[in-house]
Amino acid sequence: MSDPSPYPHLMAPLDLGFATLPNRVLMGSMHTGLEDRARDFPRLAAYFAERASGGVGLMVTGGFSPSISGWLKPFAGKLTRRGEVARHRQVTSAVHAHGARICLQLLHAGRYAYHPLSVAPSALKAPINPFRPRALSSRGVERQIQAFATAARLARDAGYDGVEVMGSEGYLLNQFTVPRTNRRSDGWGGGVANRMRFAVEIVRRVREACGPDFILIYRLSMLDLVDGGNDWAAIVAQARAVEAAGATIINTGIGWHEARVPTIATSVPRGAFAGVTARLRPEVSLPLVATNRINMPDVAEAILAAGQADMVSMARPLLADPRWVAKAASGRAEAINTCIACNQACLDHVFQNRIASCLVNPRACHETSLEYLPAASPRRIAVVGAGPAGLACATVAAGRGHAVTLFEAAGAIGGQFNLARRIPGKEEFSETLRYFRHRIAETGVELRLGTPATAELLAGSDVVVVATGVVPRAIDLEGRDHPKVVGYTDVLAGRVAVGRRVAIIGAGGIGFDVAAFLVQDGPSPSVDPRRWMQEWGVDPTSSTPGGLQPPRPGPAAREVWLLQRSAGRPGARLGRTTGWIHRATLRAKGVHMLGGVEYRRVDDAGLHVAIDGEARVLDVDHVVVCAGQEPRRDLLGELAGPGREVHVIGGADVAAELDAKRAIDQGCRLAALL
Ligand code: FAD
Ligand code: NAP
Ligand code: SF4
Repeated sequence: MSDPSPYPHLMAPLDLGFATLPNRVLMGSMHTGLEDRARDFPRLAAYFAERASGGVGLMVTGGFSPSISGWLKPFAGKLTRRGEVARHRQVTSAVHAHGARICLQLLHAGRYAYHPLSVAPSALKAPINPFRPRALSSRGVERQIQAFATAARLARDAGYDGVEVMGSEGYLLNQFTVPRTNRRSDGWGGGVANRMRFAVEIVRRVREACGPDFILIYRLSMLDLVDGGNDWAAIVAQARAVEAAGATIINTGIGWHEARVPTIATSVPRGAFAGVTARLRPEVSLPLVATNRINMPDVAEAILAAGQADMVSMARPLLADPRWVAKAASGRAEAINTCIACNQACLDHVFQNRIASCLVNPRACHETSLEYLPAASPRRIAVVGAGPAGLACATVAAGRGHAVTLFEAAGAIGGQFNLARRIPGKEEFSETLRYFRHRIAETGVELRLGTPATAELLAGSDVVVVATGVVPRAIDLEGRDHPKVVGYTDVLAGRVAVGRRVAIIGAGGIGFDVAAFLVQDGPSPSVDPRRWMQEWGVDPTSSTPGGLQPPRPGPAAREVWLLQRSAGRPGARLGRTTGWIHRATLRAKGVHMLGGVEYRRVDDAGLHVAIDGEARVLDVDHVVVCAGQEPRRDLLGELAGPGREVHVIGGADVAAELDAKRAIDQGCRLAALL
């Protein structure tokens, strides 16, 4: 008899009446950018097939619009014509070949549509979109409802097992349900019943069009996190009404895109919103799905075991590791390549109109072009440096059958990730290092810690991969050797007792992180959901409309000045979907963020600067230098000579604009070719 699963609730089947799901994992909808063009569908099919083979019971595609007005952007994915059905069959047959199920998400963008044909309940422009929508007429409302029913029927014909109707995140249906965006005075606006009528009617007509044995997931906004959102009574009323109208499952939606509260970033505590789903459970009898920042099996199991939900939704975690479910099912959680919720390669790409991928798994959405096939002739490969670039290269190369030795000068693997994981809100970065430790053992990489590589040590290798990373850039400033001046590595590694007043030179990603580290007083709110909700002003009971309350940030541990020479607002180059969170976090802690600063000198009085030509002395105890990095390439000179194949990756290759996404991508791609 096989061992019982360590996650019995997660692995329990779920009977929907007409179909039984093999486990409680729903792969949530995630736009990849492969939905928009017919020629990308073979890639989309390969992407889903890989996840289907990894054991997930039910998946949901990225959003497809039921009408042109509902396009997210011009020529975005839609399902409105019979001629579009064939391309979807590639996806459904690829998924069904692995015995999994897939639903198509029907998403009408409403006022979030990035084009001039957008429509909404009322002609109110969204703060995050330059296009003003046209208010739908009563006939227009009817046409959109019919469009949903037609699209759902086409989805059924394309072989989908169901549809998810997107009723949250501030898209069209959600816009109808709340006073913030619905100012109508006809039968589709006014009180709660009228406002939710559009959504309920869509669910009813989709059920009618597709019959009883078709999964109908309704994504319900349980916490709008915007002013003028719904309160708890309106949310419960909507849940009951969509259940009565024929929904099979309710999936939880948290926060509009225009909300100023992070909902999925790495600083959001794991499983933070499961309690919101739990509150709805006694009110309805259909299965409920908990979502947001559920990334490891123990988190998912705890939610299910506590009866907070019937299923858990994970989108990005399955981008990061397509075999997540199979690994959890066999009790190998330590083998999971964990989503660290950085958004750098998934959401940031989508917002830049690029195909999504994953920082920790560059194969995501590139399954057909980046393959790790067994090596034709195994070679002896030395990888120097166990930062993200070297770790990725070494483990992929060894996984392909090469004999790999990984040299690391420090006493532990990880490189700069060992500093990153100390930042409040970046605790997840430790998971990547745990994953790589596991892969090193699993693939048989010979790891030599505490061993700076030299030309002699590398002499017997066929291939040398230099992944030695970076060194912090030294600055040319009078007083740079003053005891007040310290480097960020010493600060983050805890080698300096930093004073109460601090100036930071350099406001790039690391300057921002160092500021967050220095102002944090006590444990990070990212590991304490209650405190995190207070800091961001979330009322999880939705007793207030939209679930907002006044934010109550904790006190700052230090007074910090974050400085840059360039004019303008510091932080403008931070991540597309996360930069605002870093800026808001520091603002809440009173950090002085200044651009256009000229550094003059450091002396006992502090840091002398000129701001807009006006001289000032910042009376600080310490000046932390975060002025970027230079490649560490000293080893390269020793390796020159004929007959040796040498590659340089990660920060050792190019330090400018380096991040872990590029480091890991470069490591994996090189290893795939060796
Ligand atoms: P490194 O991580 O620098 O690793 C190089 C390794 O080589 C080191 O372990 C070093 O000891 C070793 N080494 C050097 N010389 C030798 C030698 N001769 N022999 C043996 N070993 C040697 N990136 C993101 O994408 N997102 C983030 O949110 C993010 N946050 C960050 C926060 C902080 C505080 C810091 C410091 C960095 C952050 N980064 C982030 C950047 C990211 O960590 C780096 O881009 C990434 O680590 C670069 O990887 P690498 O392998 O090229 O180099
Ligand atoms: P960075 O983003 O290049 O920023 C360096 C900062 O130092 C800039 O503010 C720059 O601004 C200043 N600077 C440069 N040369 C200087 C000099 N000679 N004297 C004084 N100031 C100088 O580098 P970083 O902050 O070190 O980050 C390194 C990489 O890690 C980044 O590329 C980033 O992508 C990655 N990272 C990412 C995240 C994330 O959240 N995604 C977090 C941390 C790090 P001025 O020239 O205007 O003064
Ligand atoms: Fe998760 Fe970051 Fe990968 Fe996106 S890019 S799936 S957030 S690890």
